[in-house]
Amino acid sequence: MKYVSTRGAATLGRFSDVLLSGLAPDGGLAMPEFIPTFTPDELEALRPLPYPELALRIMRPFIDDLPEEALRRLLHATYHPDVFHSEAITPLTRLGRTDLYLLELSNGPSLAFKDVAMQFLGHIFEYVLETRDQHLNILGATSGDTGSAAEYAMLGKARVNVFMLSPHGRMSAFQQAQMYSLHEPNIFNLAVSGVFDDCQDLVKAVNADADFKARYDIGAVNSINWARVLAQAVYYFKAYLALNLPAGTEADFSVPSGNFGNVFAGFLARRMGLPIGQLVAASNENDVLHEFFQTGVYHVRPAARVAVTSSPSMDIGKASNFERFLYLMAGQDPEQTHTWWQAVAEGRPVTVHGTSHWDAVQTSGLRGGRSTHADRLATIRRVDDAFGRLIDPHTADGVFVGEQYARPGVPMICLETALPAKFEDTVREAVGRTPERPDRFHGIEQAERFYQLLPNDAETLKAFIAQKLRAGQPA
Ligand SMILES: *Cc1c(COP(=O)(O)O)cnc(C)c1O
Repeated sequence: MKYVSTRGAATLGRFSDVLLSGLAPDGGLAMPEFIPTFTPDELEALRPLPYPELALRIMRPFIDDLPEEALRRLLHATYHPDVFHSEAITPLTRLGRTDLYLLELSNGPSLAFKDVAMQFLGHIFEYVLETRDQHLNILGATSGDTGSAAEYAMLGKARVNVFMLSPHGRMSAFQQAQMYSLHEPNIFNLAVSGVFDDCQDLVKAVNADADFKARYDIGAVNSINWARVLAQAVYYFKAYLALNLPAGTEADFSVPSGNFGNVFAGFLARRMGLPIGQLVAASNENDVLHEFFQTGVYHVRPAARVAVTSSPSMDIGKASNFERFLYLMAGQDPEQTHTWWQAVAEGRPVTVHGTSHWDAVQTSGLRGGRSTHADRLATIRRVDDAFGRLIDPHTADGVFVGEQYARPGVPMICLETALPAKFEDTVREAVGRTPERPDRFHGIEQAERFYQLLPNDAETLKAFIAQKLRAGQPA
């Protein structure tokens, strides 16, 4: 399989090449040249497969530059009950006798769905770096979920170091404890005096220094990484097959959305032939996606206009993976995509409404919706009352919006993107009690914390990275 950029015809190489690179040289995102499909019979044959074997069948057509046995080994190591705490890996639970289901994606090491893809990255990075005799120093900024998922995925991995910036004192106590309690020679937590945007600006500043970037093998694990999208497509298949519906019968999905990575993975599954009817992108008060699906106009918001909400992992003003979706809506036309993102870069709205591409959006199955803080609290309370099940505020957003699109007799699968233990304060506000947390996180706030304070200054950050790498500490 060859990969191309959403903004130009130039080939980006094969899977291992796009795995280790960020944006394409033209600023676009990597996409496979074509999307292979499964027939209904082929889908049926996938039903009995355990998770790692299912993942192999789904991912293999896109990853054909590794020996199949190596990929199989990586997938078995990644999707193991010891890591995800069940045989099913991503169990599907019906809510009472309704047509509503929860797809549990958050039983991994950091208690959020990002583990499902990030754990795979950890294993495949190690393999590909070894084969190519390369090193990777991941530099990232986090406001919570991405950082902990990345660190838990990379700990102990050869040839990989993580330098993770976080805004000092601004994450939840639990999130801080989750990250800072790690004490591993290849993980560096850097608490920046500033806000999340300052952390992101520092990452950009380092990446803008091409010499430094090349000299120190600086890379990223952000949500535009193609391998993350691909790994996420697998659980849509897993959930659909677990329903045991007659061949060809539709199911709907509702996905708490921020950067559009998770819901785009669902769209990929649909394009591969999975009978998904509706695919609902559920947003919070930061509703650029909802606005697009209502009006056909995509208008990104500057960071200063992004609201701080009780579902913080969805607080975005632009949805980085949305470019992949519009590229497909344009019939894989890189020139059209380039024109659209030229507008985005200049702060202008992208108007798809009134063009032939809008017809494609209408038949894509994609829908949008939004929730407010009050909606999420009410949903957490209602799901707890009716089904005795506590959900986190992001999942509540998915349930709230999913219910609005529910069709009689059609399963609506809501993706559980985090466990309530991760967002205790909001859950307590909703139901007046503290959600349980897995045993391994008991008392984590009291654990010793390992982090380095860093001023909001790119040169200091570069000096820190250089010194750690020269010290030969890592890899
Ligand atoms: C990252 C995240 C999301 C948003 O996922 P995207 O792929 O960015 O759309 C939703 N919920 C939680 C808990 C997350 O961590």
